[in-house]
Amino acid sequence: MTNSEDKFAKAKKSSGVYGCVECGKCVAVCPMAEMYTNFSIEMSPRGIIKKTLNGNNIITDENIWYCTECNAGTDVCPQGVSCRDLIRDLRKIAIEENVVENIKYCTRCGKQFLSVPAKNFVFKRLKEEPPNVLDVLELCPSCRREIYMLRNT
Ligand code: SF4
Ligand code: SF4
Repeated sequence: MTNSEDKFAKAKKSSGVYGCVECGKCVAVCPMAEMYTNFSIEMSPRGIIKKTLNGNNIITDENIWYCTECNAGTDVCPQGVSCRDLIRDLRKIAIEENVVENIKYCTRCGKQFLSVPAKNFVFKRLKEEPPNVLDVLELCPSCRREIYMLRNT
């Protein structure tokens, strides 16, 4: 088993995805359905679980970058599957494997802070806002806080 296969095996085992019975309860409570107009089964926890189990090249799939990591799906899952833990691990593997095109970096400090699909979605919704509002959203939360503090001292 390669290092990468080993990481996938661990991620699948620790999140409990082998127990998934495809009931869809996690999809019914997933907040992404309300947040994203482009929500689809591909993006849903069940969809991500299915693709992971099918061995698709899931770390290159932009759909792993929309999740809020709320873990609401686990609270209702009859099998105790953790969609959050799985997606968190998949993101970690993607970064370790240098599949980073879906990660947004702060334009000030360079730290990773957001996923590109989520950022693009928010920017599209805010396209009528003045540029200075959108500029703030290019910064990570700590840089935003620092700039705000500097402005107010
Ligand atoms: S609630 Fe649990 S068992 Fe049902 S589809 Fe979601 S992960 Fe699978
Ligand atoms: S952890 Fe992610 S996939 Fe699971 S319910 Fe929350 S947003 Fe949906």
